[in-house]
Amino acid sequence: MDNEVSAPESAKTAIYFDGASSRKRIVALTFAVALEIREAGELIATWPYESVRRAESPPGLLRATSETALPLARLEVRDRELAVELVKHCLKFDDQTVGARGIGRIIGWSFAALASIVSLVMFGVPYAAERLTPLIPQSVERRIGEATDKQVKLLFGEKTCSDPKGQAAFLKLVTALRTGMGLDASVDAAVLGSEIPNAIALPGGKIYLFNGLLAKADSPDEIAGVLAHELGHVRNRDSMRNMIYTGGTSFLIGLLFGDISGSGAIIFATRTLLNASHSRDVENSADTVTVDLMHKLGRSPKPMGELLYRVTGNQGDKSLSILASHPLSEERLARMTREDRQPTGAPILTDEEWAALKAICAASK
Ligand SMILES: [Zn+2]
Repeated sequence: MDNEVSAPESAKTAIYFDGASSRKRIVALTFAVALEIREAGELIATWPYESVRRAESPPGLLRATSETALPLARLEVRDRELAVELVKHCLKFDDQTVGARGIGRIIGWSFAALASIVSLVMFGVPYAAERLTPLIPQSVERRIGEATDKQVKLLFGEKTCSDPKGQAAFLKLVTALRTGMGLDASVDAAVLGSEIPNAIALPGGKIYLFNGLLAKADSPDEIAGVLAHELGHVRNRDSMRNMIYTGGTSFLIGLLFGDISGSGAIIFATRTLLNASHSRDVENSADTVTVDLMHKLGRSPKPMGELLYRVTGNQGDKSLSILASHPLSEERLARMTREDRQPTGAPILTDEEWAALKAICAASK
């Protein structure tokens, strides 16, 4: 019974191993000029903040070592607030080469965002992706979007189509949808000269309609409905959440500390973004945007359901196509059919404009 004397694990204690013995010591951490480790009030170790590094640990536990301590010396923190406090002080915790830029970037983030990153490390990615996404500054999301955009273009090796008449028609269509939703001009859409039938929304508000999907469309309403759905993903920040979810810890650490544009994390996350399914809930709420917006414009959402259903029918390889990220085409068509309305608004594009849009990539071939 003589081990019963160990102090209760109050909110602010951590476990310390001195690296020389295997004795587990209950300590308090003080954030002074350096990190002070005290056992029963007595100072037993001092770690300079810049010497503290993360060590491998199971979920729910933050483990730290110091470059100035014995190799096996370590701290184990289970308390979330204390873990956040520790990571906040130790600017080299996850990165060997963090400089002034990294520090500046951290200051740009809210404390809540930083706390969520710690929660990601300790409680797992799905939880953190949900909590963190709304806290990411728009400027950061836009930067991620630009990096993703480069990857998309590398991946498809194609340029955006820019036939002037087609471009004018496309801009008219996108502007009608965007203003109908009350989104500002930072939303940017383009037609990508790829034969794959797809449409994607990137973090930061960039939307790509692939020419392969445009080629299969029979009316402006079909494409309008697809673009409305993608605008829904933009408004709900679904791609950002998806990237955090799939990119995980390394993506976030890169986001905080480094230049993400060429990093393996963003390449991985972009590929996953193109292939991963959105959840049923996420898809349904993007479809709700299509239904509401098409009704608002006096048009029917049904053609969009028909287009995606049609594409499903004759698409063998589903990878990288809209089907990979947008399953449920039968269910969607059923819903869009229920929401079908006789058009009361003017066509979004004239026949001439629609013909120009269909030919937007003709000159690029
Ligand atoms: Zn979708």
